[in-house]
Amino acid sequence: MNNRELLRSGIDSFGIDSDELMVDRLKRYHKTLVEWNEKMNLTGIVEEREVFIKHFLDSISAVKGGYIQDGMSLIDVGTGAGFPGIPLKVCLENIELTLLDSLNKRINFLKTVGEELELDKIEYIHGRAEDFAKEERYREKFDIATARAVAGLPVLLELCVPYIKVGGYFVCLKGPSADMELEESKTAMRVLGVEFTEKIDIELPELGLSHNILVFEKKSRTPGKYPRKAGKPTKNPIK
Ligand code: SAM
Repeated sequence: MNNRELLRSGIDSFGIDSDELMVDRLKRYHKTLVEWNEKMNLTGIVEEREVFIKHFLDSISAVKGGYIQDGMSLIDVGTGAGFPGIPLKVCLENIELTLLDSLNKRINFLKTVGEELELDKIEYIHGRAEDFAKEERYREKFDIATARAVAGLPVLLELCVPYIKVGGYFVCLKGPSADMELEESKTAMRVLGVEFTEKIDIELPELGLSHNILVFEKKSRTPGKYPRKAGKPTKNPIK
């Protein structure tokens, strides 16, 4: 199977009808990623097939379970080089995507990716998740929040849940420590107003890699004091 076929069959396996435009855009994304990675640290993986599996298909797997639907508003917190936000936007073009990261260089890279891939309806925010969640414009305004590789779950819940509307979902990509992190997050879930919905196992092609998606439903409004000041959630997680 060549790289194009690998991408298409991977996307199809997550329940999205893949097309050639998606593959073209993901190929352009890979090219831009590799070019910019020479000037700044964006990814440790550069080989095309590996990027397709470990970054792109891994990101797109977040649609499994059906919580993320086209047309929804989605904020990707700590998006870095755009994961999982950009691959999701490539596959679900009408998502209203907000990409947030505290490193401005990465935000500049993402703006270039948005232009190169001709994607619209993307908002780019340079800043700390703790700060923007306090703003009326962003607080409890999103159908979905996503995050991959940003922080341990109790911290991540504090950074992401304030952005989600009541009735919306937090879709979080996690590795093998998911069960332990869930166990540590009971207080954070209760305090922030979410309930754990389900854990979805994901198998990625070829490399024998598996990970989990943790899904949480926002059941009630988050008290105004959360998130606490920038840095506090990491220093002193809700336990
Ligand atoms: N989500 C991407 C991925 O899966 O490849 C990036 C992961 S990278 C390890 C973590 C990213 O989260 C970094 O780009 C960092 O700048 C960002 N980040 C960490 N804490 C943050 C915060 N409090 N607010 C906004 N961004 C944050």
